[in-house]
Amino acid sequence: MSQELFSYNPKSPTDSILMSASEGKRITPSEALHLYQEADYLKVMSVARYLRDKVLSHEYASYTGFRVVNYTNYCNVECSFCSFMDEIGSGKGYNLTEKEILEKMDYSVQMGADQIFLQGGVNPELPYSYYLEILRSIRNKFPKMHIRAFSPVEIINLEKITAKPLKEVLIELKEAGLDSVPGAGAEVLTERMRNIISPKKASVDEWVRAMETCHEVGLPGSANIVIGSEETKEEIIEHLNVVRNLQDRTGGFLSFIPWTFQPQTKKFFIRHVPTHEYLKVLGICRIFLDNIPHIETSVMVLGKGVGELALYSGADDISSIVIEENVLRSFGLKTEKEAIKFLTGAGFQARKRDLFYNYTEPVERILA
Ligand code: SF4
Repeated sequence: MSQELFSYNPKSPTDSILMSASEGKRITPSEALHLYQEADYLKVMSVARYLRDKVLSHEYASYTGFRVVNYTNYCNVECSFCSFMDEIGSGKGYNLTEKEILEKMDYSVQMGADQIFLQGGVNPELPYSYYLEILRSIRNKFPKMHIRAFSPVEIINLEKITAKPLKEVLIELKEAGLDSVPGAGAEVLTERMRNIISPKKASVDEWVRAMETCHEVGLPGSANIVIGSEETKEEIIEHLNVVRNLQDRTGGFLSFIPWTFQPQTKKFFIRHVPTHEYLKVLGICRIFLDNIPHIETSVMVLGKGVGELALYSGADDISSIVIEENVLRSFGLKTEKEAIKFLTGAGFQARKRDLFYNYTEPVERILA
């Protein structure tokens, strides 16, 4: 570093932590908490940006695109923030058939999608064969399609309904076509917060076990945190520490995505997260998670203004163009041209990447 990054005061504990981080030294959870509680967010952003530029040149920022297919909205987990699910047996929800999923895929391929994100509620009435068959059908019909699917809570449901070891289930899903797994369902990884917002969801230990086993069998993915409810600053850092420790063991997280809870139901307390706080948390993610290469922001959830600033605060990617998203209110970019225009307007050259973070086509071809 780096004293040019910010006006450095060697007597300031905050500045010492930031200086140390900028020199590539790992910071401790208590140092991360100190930054959250005490640091000027502009200093955090400055160091986070500096570290981000070591992963992807400051000229560039990336995007990807995928089709989301929510294969069922029946769910027995009842997260208090969720307005997507219908109760099993209510007759109000849906389970997509294999044919309906393939029809959605046909449409997506016509729109240029080569990546799919399959996610649904936890519906124990769907047999294990349903999951294997939809993966195999997609793989057979679209051999090059990247299939990212099933959050830890869905994976644990499959472990329960098959009564097989989790590793065996994951190997079978992989053989059927699964390429990677999403970071969904983490929210805040502390037992206190899980008891408040989703007591029936996978516990912290179960979430870690599911992700660790995915990574062991060669199913990498992402991780996330969702802030803006009753969580404390300490719990946010605890969450990051759970993820960093797991990543030290497996190396399976390609990216990390901090975002905020969206108002969906009245059963759930939401606090407004000021933009400077979101950017500070994002910067701390970049600094603390020194073993995860990519930090994404979500333009879909946070909007374009915050998304632009996030790219100057440690994020190197805007996540995605999402074709169909039922679970979240979306400010999303609908087409590749919109994504490229957004990134260009924010001062970057757009790089397209796939879900494994291989940078793909030159964007000039997309704009032509
Ligand atoms: S967020 Fe997912 S697991 Fe939770 S209730 Fe909604 S569909 Fe079920």
